[in-house]
Amino acid sequence: MPRELVPPPCTALPAKADVVIIGAGLTGCATAFWLQRLYGRSSVIVDARGLAGGATGRNGGHLWPNPKSDFERATVEELLSFIEAEGIECDLTHDGAVALERRAPEEGVEYHDAPGDPEAGDGEDEDWGETPVLDAAACAARLQSDAFAEATLYDGARQFYPAKVAAALLRASGATLYAPCPVSYPKGRASRGAGRPYIRCA
Ligand SMILES: Cc1cc2nc3c(=O)[nH]c(=O)nc-3n(C[C@H](O)[C@H](O)[C@H](O)COP(=O)(O)OP(=O)(O)OC[C@H]3O[C@@H](n4cnc5c(N)ncnc54)[C@H](O)[C@@H]3O)c2cc1C
Repeated sequence: MPRELVPPPCTALPAKADVVIIGAGLTGCATAFWLQRLYGRSSVIVDARGLAGGATGRNGGHLWPNPKSDFERATVEELLSFIEAEGIECDLTHDGAVALERRAPEEGVEYHDAPGDPEAGDGEDEDWGETPVLDAAACAARLQSDAFAEATLYDGARQFYPAKVAAALLRASGATLYAPCPVSYPKGRASRGAGRPYIRCA
């Protein structure tokens, strides 16, 4: 993540806060943003590592919804409209995505989904429509690599940089991020579910 997008971490925790959010990934930053936007509440965010220190900072950035999933399509549409409405610079591209087949050593290898995996089965729940197949030459032209024998192109997919969206959400939320600040639930305390939540920040 570019340094200028990372807010300086604070270390002196406040004694009290209205809302404490654990985790400064997309979920935590979006929660802080919407608490501010909808209810005018400002939050404190604590994170063991820092902004986008977890999955948000290290994922593929694919926006690749299953066309048969209303939830996935609606979520992606919501995110895209949000990025556009807020003018968030996050390297968004609309060039589709490719599923790659390596020349070697994966040729001929069959992968098996675990039993009960909703994505397993005969693929009837995934109708991706037209998915052109690229040959080795087309792969090389698109990917600047000759490692791939074939690829399937999914036109509807997009790519973005989630950590930049998290940084924009954090900035717009006005929340204060404290990091590094690992949170634990002390043993022997009725800290989960009942009564006042109790956490310890090291
Ligand atoms: C390798 C990889 C590739 C992925 N590729 C894609 C993709 O292409 N497209 C897609 O849509 N999704 C992808 N995902 C999933 C996506 O990244 C996650 O769904 C999303 O980032 C989750 O955001 P989050 O805020 O819920 O969690 P995170 O980003 O993991 O945030 C959780 C935060 O909580 C902090 N934390 C955890 N425990 C504590 C604690 N005890 N105390 C304090 N802080 C704590 C962590 O440091 C972290 O910053 C990928 C995930 C991975 C790992």
